[in-house]
Amino acid sequence: PARLLLQVRVAQVTPEHVLLLAEDLTQARRLEAIRRDFVVNVSHELKTPVGALSLLAETVHDAADDPEAVRRFSSRMQTEAARLSALVHEIIELSRLQVAGALEDVTTVAVDDVVAEAVDRTRTVADAKRVRVVAGGDRDVTVYGDRNLLVTAVRNLLDNAVTYSPSGARVSVGVRRDGDLVEIAVVDEGIGIAAADQDRVFERFYRVDPARSRDTGGTGLGLSIVKHVAADHGGDVSVWSQPGRGSTFTLRLPVADARGLPRPSTTPDA
Ligand code: ADP
Repeated sequence: PARLLLQVRVAQVTPEHVLLLAEDLTQARRLEAIRRDFVVNVSHELKTPVGALSLLAETVHDAADDPEAVRRFSSRMQTEAARLSALVHEIIELSRLQVAGALEDVTTVAVDDVVAEAVDRTRTVADAKRVRVVAGGDRDVTVYGDRNLLVTAVRNLLDNAVTYSPSGARVSVGVRRDGDLVEIAVVDEGIGIAAADQDRVFERFYRVDPARSRDTGGTGLGLSIVKHVAADHGGDVSVWSQPGRGSTFTLRLPVADARGLPRPSTTPDA
């Protein structure tokens, strides 16, 4: 059951009345708990690549006489360092989003423009894997928001779609206006997500298959960032998936010309 945490102060006492002021601390405490959890998780997640790096450094040191081994282990050090750097980048991004007022630069943004840039930035990874990425749908739809964050959100969905697809597969991004909302759907023909995991994939550091995700360089933060960006824009993100068939992630945002436009919210949330 939800419990309310009230801080009550005696504000004024006169012969006729006593004035009590009650302040609701529930939200503040909840945010504090979320932050504390986050710090614990972050420390845990950082330990893995840092531990790997120090072990590899030791190995390189001991293998100084074997140039081939030195080359092999240095290359693995580079991979671990890149992973660490990606993790730190996403941690910073997510903590920024958890602070009120994360939408820094709010303008009218064209959705097809956001999609085009996200597709562009995914191209290298997609090409390397021979995954074809196609985009289409309604044009001239605008939303009110932070362009960079929106590109990051669509890009995270696209990166996942490519990562969890077999080589040669197709990934598509469709834009569809539906009344006062616009839907950006990222569709893949990849491994899919079991029903039990579908709600959990948006949690920080949650990975369906930790070993596999780590192999692909996943941080477990990508979808959590998407969820925050969606919420900060007054929208949401959802998933539909069938294991072995593929997944569709749909980002829903209020369009800029909607009547009674909900103002982009900057309320921090889990
Ligand atoms: P990661 O960096 O591990 O990909 P995300 O937060 O982006 O972290 O995703 C969380 C987990 O959800 C992933 O580890 C993966 O198991 C699963 N997942 C995300 N997108 C897809 C997808 N398109 N197809 C299959 N599984 C996915």
